[in-house]
Amino acid sequence: MSTIVLAEYLFRGEAEISRAVLESAGIPAIVKAEDEGGLNPGFYSDFRVTLLVNEADARDAREVLGIDQPLVVPAQVREAMMAHSLWGYPNEACGLLAGTETGVEMVFCLTNRLASSTRYTIDPREHYGAARLAERYGLSILGAWHSHPNGDATISPTDIAESPGGSWITLITGRFGKSSEAIRAYRTEGNSPIELEVIVEPTA
Ligand SMILES: [Zn+2]
Repeated sequence: MSTIVLAEYLFRGEAEISRAVLESAGIPAIVKAEDEGGLNPGFYSDFRVTLLVNEADARDAREVLGIDQPLVVPAQVREAMMAHSLWGYPNEACGLLAGTETGVEMVFCLTNRLASSTRYTIDPREHYGAARLAERYGLSILGAWHSHPNGDATISPTDIAESPGGSWITLITGRFGKSSEAIRAYRTEGNSPIELEVIVEPTA
């Protein structure tokens, strides 16, 4: 069975608390510190303390610890966003993401009403239509995506200000057409962006 790194900690104590919480929920976990030499092994560390669980338990373990689940994006969805980003160039391209709590299942490539290279507003009629269609497939709108035609996929202060917060996802495609095809996803709490791990799932 393969294990994955569920979380990283600065202090071994914090990792041990999380491990205990998981164990009490019936989820086996291991705390691993990469270098435990020195006078107070594990007491204070400049090294990585990690919490590992079996891959099959990862979802439940994150749930128990209140850690964000990674955002699963099918490769086809990423391709569609990249194509729409290229099509919209030099303006920002935008759209919506629909899916379930286990990931994105549907992408909408919509019109940027502002036709701007630095701002976007999704056409409200299209937004409404997309939401209705998603609903018909039993999916929810998880968030919005847009391109940064000349920048990287890092969330901007404007993006943060415009995010409704909660579980709403802001996904950004960066500098397509140039070297990077990276996508990054965030949610926000107040003025703080919280980056979500993105897992691009190959489509069979
Ligand atoms: Zn942006």
